[in-house]
Amino acid sequence: MDALVADPETRIDGFICPGHVSVIIGSAPYEPIAKDRQVPCVVTGFEAEDILVAIRMLLLQIQDKRSEVEIQYSRAVTRDGNASAKAMLDRVFDVTDASWRGIGSIPTTGYALRQEFVGHDARMRIPIEPPQGTDLPKGCSCGLVMRGLKIPTECPLFGKACEPRHPVGPCMVSSEGACAAYYKYREVPVS
Ligand code: SF4
Repeated sequence: MDALVADPETRIDGFICPGHVSVIIGSAPYEPIAKDRQVPCVVTGFEAEDILVAIRMLLLQIQDKRSEVEIQYSRAVTRDGNASAKAMLDRVFDVTDASWRGIGSIPTTGYALRQEFVGHDARMRIPIEPPQGTDLPKGCSCGLVMRGLKIPTECPLFGKACEPRHPVGPCMVSSEGACAAYYKYREVPVS
């Protein structure tokens, strides 16, 4: 999120922060985004009503010229998150640099299994080389989509060469991907 805000090409007015992640980590990690970067944040649940309320909360912050972290998903998220789960994460993982497809490497944004658990690391056990850094399939605009510089339908492959049964890029693979969501909820002509 910090890398997105710092990117001179992006223009981010506010963040809808992920409810499932925030159940574990809490809302406190977003505070530097609101305080130092002056971008409002609202931690949000997954129902349509949650999203609508969160958008309203963001708009009110923007209207009032506030920049805070607010929790819409208060039935599951607290400021400090789940202490037991965070302790488990710390026990099993080290923080490491991570390669974000279509964006590149960002320091301290990933997890790697600690040495004592490295025998469970699929990357050590399976002899494949995953794509690195800005590597994307030819013609895929995922990097621009993830940075908010394009919407999925502006990708020339959307719904043609690329759709959920035959994804070309990572944004079409998971149901949480922006391109997959655009595809699922696209307007289909009624015959
Ligand atoms: S539609 Fe497919 S190819 Fe285009 S940006 Fe999305 S994932 Fe990449």
